[in-house]
Amino acid sequence: MKKTVSLISKNFKKIHPESLKEYLKAGGYDGLKNALPLTSLEVITAVKKSGIKGRGGAAYPTGLKWEQAAAIPGPRKIVICNADEGEPGTFKDRYLLEYDPFKIIEGMTIAAYAVGANEGYIYIREEYKKLQNRMRKIIDIAIQNGFLGNNILGTNFKFNIKVFSGAGAYVCGENSTLIESMEGKSGRPRIKPPYIKERGLFNLPTLVNNVETFSIIPVIFTIGPEEYAKYGTPNSRGTKLISIAGNIKKPGTYEIPFGITLNEIVFDIGGGIRNNKKLKFLQIGGASGSIVPASMTHIRYCYEDFKEHNITMGSGAILVADETIKVVDFLKSVQDFFLHESCGKCTPCREGNRQLSKIFNRFVKGNASIEDFKTIERFGKVMKYCSFCGLGQSATTALLSAIKHFPDEFYTHIDKVHKTI
Ligand code: SF4
Repeated sequence: MKKTVSLISKNFKKIHPESLKEYLKAGGYDGLKNALPLTSLEVITAVKKSGIKGRGGAAYPTGLKWEQAAAIPGPRKIVICNADEGEPGTFKDRYLLEYDPFKIIEGMTIAAYAVGANEGYIYIREEYKKLQNRMRKIIDIAIQNGFLGNNILGTNFKFNIKVFSGAGAYVCGENSTLIESMEGKSGRPRIKPPYIKERGLFNLPTLVNNVETFSIIPVIFTIGPEEYAKYGTPNSRGTKLISIAGNIKKPGTYEIPFGITLNEIVFDIGGGIRNNKKLKFLQIGGASGSIVPASMTHIRYCYEDFKEHNITMGSGAILVADETIKVVDFLKSVQDFFLHESCGKCTPCREGNRQLSKIFNRFVKGNASIEDFKTIERFGKVMKYCSFCGLGQSATTALLSAIKHFPDEFYTHIDKVHKTI
């Protein structure tokens, strides 16, 4: 199996991202041209056939999501592209926004056609200011050339897209929170139901997909869903953009077919560990992801293997840690991040992160107790099962997996007095 492929990344650094002419020459908008003669049902059927699952982290089947969105009645529907890429160590959506922005617009247009929407938004994180401006420029070019606006490609279909700037909150990556912030409210998640597919932005039926998900859509309608589904494994169809960072020789964004091993990702694609050090662990999926020790890198990067080993794929980030990294120090930085980003709406996450941070200070200083060790595990579980949204539920994923794989590292930080108790 090839270790890297070029389906959604094929235009990266090959065409000028703001040149429609170069995008068209590279096969751009062939997907939309193939999709528009189809019925909405046929478009959705093709997406279902491709087997694609949402690349934002939840891995919900995209075809099913579109089918549900299309079934909601209503004269006004919204499509939102979630480009609030805030997961630490994740920068693959930035590559798509930077190097192939027309593809995102094309994917959104096909989605809007499928679900019956005429209004679209791209919610781009505040830190990507330059890319917000690029996207506004791209949208103008698309309108001037009949790829957006009224009568797209000479049909009766109309679709417009606006760029919306996030304000820097990690929690706004959660779809209902993102919508709250677009409505001018505090960035806090909504109670569900009602689901956003029924009552999303301004109470209108809303479809939200991630940047990478939308970028795959034109590929599916260019090479065909069957061809796309040939990549990957039976339950993980297609390809995935991953971001590799940390103590790795060749950090960056790569497109891989699902099914290659973590070992192949780190050593063949990433070039191995910097400075002749040994691999200690990986953190998969960003700050909210699991710690995977070096002994488990035979696992394949796909939903089925990850499920078997209780690993979440999350955003596609892979953080590489060498033998010099102390697990407790690493976890302290993860917990501080969540303490900073918790929106404060629910007690398990708000207070849990605060207390964990205090206890981690004791671990880092080497004067924690056995009781502290028991407490962080208990708090970790309470937060996982009782927090209101994904932020709190996943804030202790790293901690709980580290306790499982590196229990001794905690004991070395428990002081001598407490060890004897
Ligand atoms: S888990 Fe609770 S406090 Fe944490 S971000 Fe979600 S709603 Fe806010």
